[in-house]
Amino acid sequence: MEQLAIFGGTPVRTTPIGYGKQYIDRDDIEAVTEALISPELTCGPRIAELERKLCEVTGAKYAVAVSNGTAALHIAALAAGFQEGDEVIVSPITFAASANCILYCGAKPVFADINPETYNIDPESVEKLVTPRTKGIVAVDFTGQSIEQDAIRGICEKHGLVLIEDAAHAVGTRYRGAPVGSMADMTCFSFHPVKTVTAGEGGAVTTNDSGKYHRLLRLRAHGITRNRQEMAHPTEARWYNEQVELGFNYRMTDIQAALLISQLKKLPAFARRRKEIVEKYDRAFSGMPELKVQKEIPDSDTVRHLYILRLNPDRLSCDRRQFFDALWEENIRSQVHYLPVYWHSYYEKLGYGKGLCPNAEAYYREAMSLPLYYQLADEDVEDVIHAVKKILTYYRK
Ligand SMILES: *Cc1c(COP(=O)(O)O)cnc(C)c1O
Repeated sequence: MEQLAIFGGTPVRTTPIGYGKQYIDRDDIEAVTEALISPELTCGPRIAELERKLCEVTGAKYAVAVSNGTAALHIAALAAGFQEGDEVIVSPITFAASANCILYCGAKPVFADINPETYNIDPESVEKLVTPRTKGIVAVDFTGQSIEQDAIRGICEKHGLVLIEDAAHAVGTRYRGAPVGSMADMTCFSFHPVKTVTAGEGGAVTTNDSGKYHRLLRLRAHGITRNRQEMAHPTEARWYNEQVELGFNYRMTDIQAALLISQLKKLPAFARRRKEIVEKYDRAFSGMPELKVQKEIPDSDTVRHLYILRLNPDRLSCDRRQFFDALWEENIRSQVHYLPVYWHSYYEKLGYGKGLCPNAEAYYREAMSLPLYYQLADEDVEDVIHAVKKILTYYRK
């Protein structure tokens, strides 16, 4: 009966808002237009410019721009040397691509549990899963918060593992002052429109290792090289290039690069606004026993991609589905990030079962993402907070 009051009353918002949205301005449009009428639509000077800019933003020595974040993860996993027979430890609370890249190489994803308060991969859980077959870790800066770099790096050094950081959420985040992208063996970014900065579709891998850098360049372009030192049959011929391994066409176009270069100029403003919104939500929700607020580690200066609203089931008479639907009825279109990866039926068919990561599964039952994007106005944030509070009045126990 109580639900009728929620679903039957006037919604807090008359027009729906989603959890994320890109921001494109006149400068972005001009940059793309210029690229379109330039001589090179792909493999041109904007790719080099973007890669220099990405090195600046991340503090990495090298950056390789690619067609999307999944391509970045794929070639990073190959450059890490993951292959059949290897185990690679990964967080289950992430987009499937973080684990799929391990499968692409024929290796086996091993899911470590998350920290129940920060929602990032738990170093203690990782340590317990290391075996002689473990080759690396794919660690995700979930919501944009940095992983516990020191602890995770320590495990990698101790056991000789390669660390790939999936920083699809975390462009602009710093850990003890060092930008994400400068710390792991390889860091992967996504520039999908829902992420903090966008190329339409796009991705990048950053690294400080020149060997990995050259391998990534080759894998991005069919496994073909023009570098004589990499060839089996080097010649002096100007036209000669040689495919020395199986690679892909994962190139980004100069059109996408132009957009991303322009977007990166706005990253400081994007970051500032995202932080402001997170503070507003945190201030509104942190005193409420019905809700759990994501814990920040002091070492992370976070540019948040997602704001997670997590329910405390002990204090509420509804489940996440009911709360989510009630928000929907208030015209706040939330999303859930994420189904534990091994709950996907594809992974189930591979033999992964429920119960593997209890913290991740409890998180999934209680979490949803609230609107968080640059153009979200203060009034929008107030609407969201109001809607959450309104729903709580019906479901409070
Ligand atoms: C978005 C995302 C990816 C994949 O990036 P695409 O550019 O969409 O291929 C990978 N990992 C995480 C955590 C993501 O959020």
